[in-house]
Amino acid sequence: MRSSVSHARSIAVLTGAGVSAESGIPTFRSNGGLWQQYRFEDLATPEAFQRDPKFVWTWYEERRRSIAKAQPNAGHLALAEMERRAKRFTLITQNVDGLHDRAGSKNVIKLHGDIWVLRCLRCRREEVNREELQSLPPYCDCGGMLRPGVVWFGEALPEGAMERATEAVRHAGVFIVAGTSAQVYPAAGLIPLAIRNRATVIEINPEETDFSADVTYALRGTSAEMLPQLLGDGS
Ligand code: NAD
Ligand code: ZN
Repeated sequence: MRSSVSHARSIAVLTGAGVSAESGIPTFRSNGGLWQQYRFEDLATPEAFQRDPKFVWTWYEERRRSIAKAQPNAGHLALAEMERRAKRFTLITQNVDGLHDRAGSKNVIKLHGDIWVLRCLRCRREEVNREELQSLPPYCDCGGMLRPGVVWFGEALPEGAMERATEAVRHAGVFIVAGTSAQVYPAAGLIPLAIRNRATVIEINPEETDFSADVTYALRGTSAEMLPQLLGDGS
């Protein structure tokens, strides 16, 4: 299995909230997950934002502050190293936390946006802002309200993101799926696509998912344990 990774001409990886769990960032569905403390209908929809932007922003700003204190873990770092060694490598993530960037990953497709991006509702301008936001909601220079640059329930993915992800998976000899419950579509649909294309599909998740029975290897462990092992040199 390690040799399939080190000899692959092209590797694609799909990550989810689980890869950041060992950095102390809660996942959505596991015990203690975000949605057990909050009703997502209250937070992660355009309607919720329209109803009460300050409430939604307060929650996002809290997440931003806690993510800012977190560090990439051994799993994020292993993926950045895998990219440096591979001929062709695409990291497709459902995470919005930016920890892959901070670990050194370069070719990253952010299917669900980026919590560090702020987007103006009026002029559509986007800015990267990692500062603590002084007043909520924040406003653009044009006077329009800024929203978090993440994809909310019921919204379209960033333009071209799914097309680029599909293309990467089509070309991948090895497809690694780490830390995702694979219940959010269309991202989860990349897994059956890789299986149909006869890629070597490696799942890393301490728990079984709907796809575990169909992948080539289902590794029952955490991403910080298992991803460094896939590099095959103990690093
Ligand atoms: P999810 O919460 O539905 O699933 C997380 C999965 O990770 C579960 O299957 C769990 O068994 C597994 N897991 C838990 N700890 C793990 C570990 N240490 N190593 C490997 N796997 C582990 O998350 P999802 O599949 O990403 O989908 C839900 C949505 O949550 C996505 O749309 C994503 O945008 C959003 N989200 C993002 C973040 C983030 O950016 N860090 C955090 C929470 C949710
Ligand atoms: Zn503006």
